[in-house]
Amino acid sequence: KQTKVSTDREGVFVTNTQEDISKIRNISIIAHIDAGKTTCTERMLYYAGAVENPGEVHYGNTVMDYMEQERKRGITIRAATIAFNWEGHQINLIDTPGHVDFTAEVERSLRVVDGAVAIFDSMQGVETQSETVWMQANKFRIPRLGFINKLDRTGASVQLTLDSIKRRLKVEPLLVNVPGSDNSLLKGIIDLPSMHYIEYLDEKGKMVNIDRIERGHGMYERAMEYRNTLIEQLANFDEKIADEYLSGVPVDEIPQETIEEAIRSAIMTQKSVALFCGSALKNKGVQPLLDAIVNYLPSPEKIVAKGKNALTNEEIIRNPSKKEKLCALAFKVVNDKEKGLVTFFRVYSGILKNRQRILNSNLNKPERIQSLFRMKADEAQILTDIGVGDIGAMTGCKDIRSGDTILEEGDTERIILEGVKMPPAVFF
Ligand code: GDP
Repeated sequence: KQTKVSTDREGVFVTNTQEDISKIRNISIIAHIDAGKTTCTERMLYYAGAVENPGEVHYGNTVMDYMEQERKRGITIRAATIAFNWEGHQINLIDTPGHVDFTAEVERSLRVVDGAVAIFDSMQGVETQSETVWMQANKFRIPRLGFINKLDRTGASVQLTLDSIKRRLKVEPLLVNVPGSDNSLLKGIIDLPSMHYIEYLDEKGKMVNIDRIERGHGMYERAMEYRNTLIEQLANFDEKIADEYLSGVPVDEIPQETIEEAIRSAIMTQKSVALFCGSALKNKGVQPLLDAIVNYLPSPEKIVAKGKNALTNEEIIRNPSKKEKLCALAFKVVNDKEKGLVTFFRVYSGILKNRQRILNSNLNKPERIQSLFRMKADEAQILTDIGVGDIGAMTGCKDIRSGDTILEEGDTERIILEGVKMPPAVFF
């Protein structure tokens, strides 16, 4: 629900649309170059209704490509984050550069996300760069989902991908859905009733028809095998599942909610990754992934910001509450030709208001926000405020660098958030 407040030259002001912190997901997509990050992002934006047409990579008209061109032209504000809605949740997608040369930049982005999706090319399994970024994500203890892409290609193999994840990333891959073989999306191994059906979807992802698959159909048996494996794996992470499994409860009688809960705790340990398959039809099948982002990855509601007082070196925490004093972290600063310096930040506590005077805690220097906004697909949405857990961008700050902590002006408790040592701002 958006409330129009007033308009000015910059467009329509809306208040922060995300009041409920449990509905926010701050995520990054990590992948080896060419695994399909751009394509998947486009599909997500399309199915989420954020863009009208799914961009095709080879025509060079995708939002991501567009961002790449803008980056080259110096208009970089679109490159850092995109927000879109899925099932009543706000997903903030924070871009990580696809190139190995940008290690520091990748880390700055990973510092502010609460979850990540790793995309694997099912013909290649884990590739060098996915391994590198995976290790960086380990450093920040980020819970992860995986998406097995390009399943339509000859030589694609779910098993190869699973084996290679186990061997190279040293985590337990939990396969949660199986690919549909025609124009269908089978929801899952854990979602057994849907295993009896194939949903036929139109271009927009709306279900137009549904077919019942009789028991005895190979697909169902295969899913049951996968489900057996999944339950066995989960028994190592979750006592409730272990109890049920060891006491001989048939795997199809273990409630879906119990399995989902076990998957959530398994991925929170980072010793495991929950995997979702794309469709065996080219570029289809991101909807189960979107559902999974909302269902399995954590919201910011339990993320407590830790830091030290710049003056006393005393440890300080800021709780993820609107009532706490403001505490935010700048994670990217870009020089935009039109807007000047744009600072991207994540709010860990309190609320940041447009035109507010703030304090750069690292430099002990006040600044004034000139405009506050969020990128929604390909448009900047001007905001009056942006609250705890959310990610936004602002202009008007001259000396804030990525990695700096942002507080209210006059806050005497000079917290500086812990994090990676960030290099100075990047200018394109
Ligand atoms: P990125 O480098 O990770 O952003 O990868 P892109 O999204 O640009 O994809 C690389 C190439 O793989 C492009 O030519 C895409 O059209 C192609 N591609 C992406 N996903 C799929 C898929 O599911 N099936 C097939 N056959 N091709 C794909």
